[in-house]
Amino acid sequence: MAECIFCQIVAGAIPSKKIYEDEHVIAFDDINPQASVHMLVIPKRHVVSLDDTQDSDTELLGQLMVVCAKMARERGLNTGGYRVVTNTGREAGQTVFHLHLHVLGGRSFAWPPG
Ligand code: AMP
Ligand code: ZN
Repeated sequence: MAECIFCQIVAGAIPSKKIYEDEHVIAFDDINPQASVHMLVIPKRHVVSLDDTQDSDTELLGQLMVVCAKMARERGLNTGGYRVVTNTGREAGQTVFHLHLHVLGGRSFAWPPG
């Protein structure tokens, strides 16, 4: 998807602060952090959102979650706790329509979210 900003990050056409990469997944720091640690974990393949997934994506979704946990441990978030969020659709606040998991930590979070 040539016009997708995250596909361009995957391709290296747009710079990012990449913190993890494997065959199917990359992670990088969010450009506009909402906590002292704010990372994004995304599939390399263009998937619009969680709503664009099906049974055949089970393994990929598991891999994304495991990378979230790894990155959180690497940044020391696991002791205090952290939040993993995927905004799905406009009403939920999704602005980039390439599936991504936000990993946020380093401060307290309210519940329910706004
Ligand atoms: P969402 O609103 O859930 O779709 O989240 C999109 C996230 O992508 C926001 O937190 C943005 O700050 C982040 N973002 C947008 N462009 C970039 C970029 N070029 N590099 C890193 N993060 C980005
Ligand atoms: Zn994309």
